[in-house]
Amino acid sequence: MPRRIVLPVAVVAAFALAVYAAADRPAATADAPKPLPEMKFDDVAEIAPGVFFRYSSISATDPTIPFGGSNHAWVVFKDYVVVVDANFPKEAADVLAAIKKTTNKPIRYVLDTHHHGDHAYGNSVWAREGARIVAHKTAARLLKVNGPKQWEDASKDREDLRKTELKQADVTFDDPYVLDDGTQRVEFRHFGHSHTAGDAVAYLPKLKILCTGDACVNGSFNYMGHSNTASWIKCLEGMEKLDVDVVGPGHGKLARKDLLATQKRYFADLRAEVKKGLDAKKSLDEIAAGIDLPWYKEWTGKAAKENKDNVKHVYDELTGKVDHDRLGAAPPPLDWRAEPRGFVGR
Ligand SMILES: [Zn+2]
Repeated sequence: MPRRIVLPVAVVAAFALAVYAAADRPAATADAPKPLPEMKFDDVAEIAPGVFFRYSSISATDPTIPFGGSNHAWVVFKDYVVVVDANFPKEAADVLAAIKKTTNKPIRYVLDTHHHGDHAYGNSVWAREGARIVAHKTAARLLKVNGPKQWEDASKDREDLRKTELKQADVTFDDPYVLDDGTQRVEFRHFGHSHTAGDAVAYLPKLKILCTGDACVNGSFNYMGHSNTASWIKCLEGMEKLDVDVVGPGHGKLARKDLLATQKRYFADLRAEVKKGLDAKKSLDEIAAGIDLPWYKEWTGKAAKENKDNVKHVYDELTGKVDHDRLGAAPPPLDWRAEPRGFVGR
């Protein structure tokens, strides 16, 4: 019977291959990081015991890819689930369905990493599930002050917004906000004004995972209109001081810790290029046309000069046209000046 012969040969071949592969590679250590999972859009991967990451569909270069909003992580504690980011209502429902395939525990906390629609407008979907919405106090304030008008504007293009209501944060925190039941630990941390004035990240120190919201993205997804790029660089430096192996960005693929440096390099290089142009008395258009960061195109598939709004934002910052205190707030939050600003120092 051929089967009896074929099977041992296959086993021997597999064994030989394993010996060869082991001899060919440096010896694995207990600390060797697991390879990152290969993920297609909307895939969910368990990246550590009880920690799931969903790679939501989005593309900065291919308009045929449907917009799936922000990425998500969720952490299954003993009795409940913690979700990072709320997304828009429609996408939140998709994520909720994905979560329910991984656990039947109740969702108790959802972190809005910041007040933008693809991270916060689905709050009502999670609240209906019994979750409490958590946000840094500045993000919560921005959602309160600016949310209604921005929601109204966004609802012109989104049926899901017309059918639901803007839900504000239930719990606000300064820094940090820690959830720990002895099995899982998640720390919501605020490093200062980066993508917005109220960004929070979710840090899992035991598992060395950092979910950054849009304070760090993997690809050409940086909206910089509410940002403070000098402070953003310092925030990323603060995150680099954390013991991190895996970064779950707000948009784009799961990455290693070096994504923080790559993201930082974009802002540092962009600031340097714009400054060089200003020193040479060039106009904004001339500066934008001359932006040449080949490594950025290699990383994102898009030339840095194509992101003209980002060049303009940095130009406005360096020429004193941006009032960072008021950024993202129109009208400014009442006690805005009481907020800690810039790098917090952790
Ligand atoms: Zn955002």
